[in-house]
Amino acid sequence: MRRIGIYMSVVLIITIIVPTVIVKTIKFVPITNSVEGKGFENKRLPVVRKSEQKILQNEDIQYIKVFNIKSKEVENLPIEEYVKGVVAAEMPARFHIEALKAQAIAARTYAISRSIRFSDGHPDHKDAPLCSGVHCQAYLSLEQLEDIHGKDWIDNYWGKIEEAVDTTKSMVIYYNGEIIEPLYHSSSGGMTEDAINVFAMDSPYLKAVKSPYEEDAPKYRDIMTLTVEEFIDKLNGKFPKVKMTKTDFLEKIKLVERTDSGRIKKIAIGGEIIDGREIRELFGLNSTNFNIIYDKNIDLIEIETYGNGHGVGMSQWGANGMAKNGKSFEEILKHYYSGIDIGEM
Ligand SMILES: [Zn+2]
Repeated sequence: MRRIGIYMSVVLIITIIVPTVIVKTIKFVPITNSVEGKGFENKRLPVVRKSEQKILQNEDIQYIKVFNIKSKEVENLPIEEYVKGVVAAEMPARFHIEALKAQAIAARTYAISRSIRFSDGHPDHKDAPLCSGVHCQAYLSLEQLEDIHGKDWIDNYWGKIEEAVDTTKSMVIYYNGEIIEPLYHSSSGGMTEDAINVFAMDSPYLKAVKSPYEEDAPKYRDIMTLTVEEFIDKLNGKFPKVKMTKTDFLEKIKLVERTDSGRIKKIAIGGEIIDGREIRELFGLNSTNFNIIYDKNIDLIEIETYGNGHGVGMSQWGANGMAKNGKSFEEILKHYYSGIDIGEM
């Protein structure tokens, strides 16, 4: 009840204020986010209790069960080998070695926290706690990597991947003595997102932080151009009650709320309150950090997006930027995961 009250009052305020803003440039900045399908959305972010950690130590700490999404079979992989395949699949191997080390520790920690949490299998792949796809975290075997990148890539980069994983062997991330679930994403667009705004669940170590040095990220800023008809058709198709037309679409879309990091949280379309995430999905946007701009002169809609992914946890491009600016893997992880420690498994 209280929430509805808040939304209504926000909508009212926006209704009064926004039209004056829109009339000029028709620039409004809607709401929300997710990863290039890292598949972490809607997943709870628990911590693993110490008692549960003991169970893991008694069992397969050296091996990890992974459901291979290609062969549809469960593979029992030595954890450090698995981590190498994740680092190679999840981060460009040309990245700075300190960024690769940070990725190795995040990947290892994520795998262990999932293995404990879904020790009886994940609901989406019941025979293993992890899969080899972006649903969990991407993993590629050495053979697959050679098929994809060629032998030269193996010659040039596999040693670097091994170095990143071997020099951080057994290292994992803890918060208050408990293993964390370290989410990560491609790039944030300048500031990461608080987990509560994406997963509706608070996490003390997944707070919004500044993410400088991301300028090299290929999707740091992206523009999608649509005709007004395309834009309206998409929204009407998804939200039929809205019945938007070319003459009224500007009045029917209002920004309701942005998160503190600037992502679109709520947007009102013809009176319906919609999550920024739904708009992201509908238009296939890189993130929920977007602006919708109508250019009257050319009669086109531009959707400008910053960052790529859900924005929670470590930004991979930000990690590489920090590493290139002299930061260590430890400094990178401590920057993106608030209040954490790095320790042995
Ligand atoms: Zn999975």
